[in-house]
Amino acid sequence: MDAELMIEVQGLTKRDGTTVSAGSPGPQSAAPLHFDPDAVHAKYLEERDKRLIPGRAAIRDLTGENLFTKYREDPFTPFEHREPLFEETDVAVVGAGIGGIVTGANLRKVGMERITIIDQAGGFGGTWYWNRYPGVMCDVESYIYMPMLEDLDYIPTKKYAFGDEIRENLEAIAKKYDLVNDALFHTGVQRTEWDEECARWILHTDRGDEIRARYVVMAVGILNLVKLPDIPGMELFKGKSFHTGRWDYEYTGGDMHSRMDKLADKVVGVIGTGASAIQCIGPLGQSAKKLYVFQRTPSAVGVRNNRPTSEEVASGFENRPGWQRARMYNFHSVLNGEDVVDLVDDGWTHYEAKVWNPRREPGMTSEDFVLNAEEEDFEIMEAHRRRIDETVIDPGTAEILKPYYRYLCKRPCFHDEYLPAFNLPNVTLVDCPAGIETVTERGLVCNGEEFELDCLIYATGFEAEVTPFPRRAGHEIIGRGGLRLAEKWAAGPATLHGMMTRGFPNFFMVPAPGQQGVISVNFTLVNCEGAEHIAATIKLLDERGIQVADVSGEAEREYVDGILATYQDVSLVMEACTPSRLNNEGNPKAMNPRAGSWGGGRGDLFGWIKMLKEWREAGDFAGLETDQPVAAS
Ligand code: NDP
Repeated sequence: MDAELMIEVQGLTKRDGTTVSAGSPGPQSAAPLHFDPDAVHAKYLEERDKRLIPGRAAIRDLTGENLFTKYREDPFTPFEHREPLFEETDVAVVGAGIGGIVTGANLRKVGMERITIIDQAGGFGGTWYWNRYPGVMCDVESYIYMPMLEDLDYIPTKKYAFGDEIRENLEAIAKKYDLVNDALFHTGVQRTEWDEECARWILHTDRGDEIRARYVVMAVGILNLVKLPDIPGMELFKGKSFHTGRWDYEYTGGDMHSRMDKLADKVVGVIGTGASAIQCIGPLGQSAKKLYVFQRTPSAVGVRNNRPTSEEVASGFENRPGWQRARMYNFHSVLNGEDVVDLVDDGWTHYEAKVWNPRREPGMTSEDFVLNAEEEDFEIMEAHRRRIDETVIDPGTAEILKPYYRYLCKRPCFHDEYLPAFNLPNVTLVDCPAGIETVTERGLVCNGEEFELDCLIYATGFEAEVTPFPRRAGHEIIGRGGLRLAEKWAAGPATLHGMMTRGFPNFFMVPAPGQQGVISVNFTLVNCEGAEHIAATIKLLDERGIQVADVSGEAEREYVDGILATYQDVSLVMEACTPSRLNNEGNPKAMNPRAGSWGGGRGDLFGWIKMLKEWREAGDFAGLETDQPVAAS
């Protein structure tokens, strides 16, 4: 948001004469609270039940060609015709987001010559290519989220970076590591198939290409499938409609940081109040003649407190080689509940860390522990609810915005301009806990009332991160003997280290949730660790003259058994949650233990990193079957 817009939003005055300050919302102090578990349970369940309606998770299928596939089209880069390619490469990397780029960079670092990155987008960036909506930013600190900062000798300009700075950082990595010239954009892989005879993967694309690769790395991402809800009548709407992940600035005018002047005479509706919506609603409120925000479930919106990077902060980094990985680890340690100095010091390290690691005192009974955890959660949610009361002028609107569920039930959000936007006279919040009923020619219907709109924006997110990998990959992956990955994984993933799978030699997947690796709030860290492991493994295989490496049946079984043995079933707690992707939309019992993480829960990230390092150092490729005997290193 530009300075002028910030001042307008910040300078709003409440009815009691006090001024709303987006920079210092201040209500997150922990006052002593009365906690009545029965009353809280009843309220939370009542709110959950309003949203637990059949069909709430139904989505449109955007994978084929149909009426709705236009919502996937690229508004940012013109499509250019080119002739099909028939090429040989060392490593084909599918996906040009953070995972693909850091993998490419690490492959270059270990001396790999031919690296071909392929993506459906028109350029580098992955989710940061597609998401250019106004106000788009990352709520994980830029110093730990933007990868390879020390390689680039770059310090982000703000504690939380806007999307364009993140995309430029990714483009700069691609340029530095010479990944640009061979990249294939606006190219969708349609089939990846192993050719046993020549020990090559063959990637067939929608451009007619045939790329033969010694290795394949799938870096398809976790937010790559745009999600459109299945609301009756969507195809009837005569106005303009698009998804936040494909913002149409041609229509709205303006850009990511400035007023969208073409909306000045438009009535705009936004469906959704999740992480994307809360970032674009402020700028939309500033630009549109009228803005309706259709909310199914309120987000818990904590303080963000963004600020420019001070010289002191920057020089603190510059003088400490290795600072970035150390800071990433520190963030994860704090979220793990370890007793370390909190360098990042934000909502994640305060609230998320506390909720996932409740206080456990000596002599505490399990019942006390559970109750204490609940009370701590309740206090955090009360602070969020108080913040709304202190920020939003209209009490009715404030009440609708309040999240009544446990903090761990939904992905938390952080923003300082979202709540004040509801004080603008042209912004109206519409409470639709059961979702939108229908879309019509003129607008949409919620609670039996039709809202006429010129423009309808779907801020409805992406298919869940734990969407099985074969679906996220979006094409057929065929291994040895015609084995299809989707069939092999029909009952759940089976991997070694969350990155390789038997029957698919020389094939790696960048680790992601639901893939038997580990999970971190800072997904960049997992991407970097995975990329380094994959590059180092490929280098080792090459050094030993190994042409083909596949996972052994025994190693895969053992690894999967480890995942199952450490799986923690939290469905009892999650059942009481408002439906969200974190509890499988209200059906946590159906979660597949095989999609769990290494070490249980969100995974033991540090243990996993240590295991991978020891595996590489041993150099004996334990768990792999290779075409050459493995000589001692
Ligand atoms: P979300 O899935 O978080 O939000 C989608 C919104 O659409 C929700 O409010 C949802 O309601 C609503 N919705 C869906 N279907 C309907 C329907 N039929 N009727 C009414 N409302 C509906 O998507 P986002 O794009 O906001 O975020 C997706 C993910 O992207 C985040 O979880 C995060 O991982 C990532 N992200 C990260 C950011 C960052 O700063 N790091 C910024 C933006 C996104 P309900 O809540 O009831 O399901």
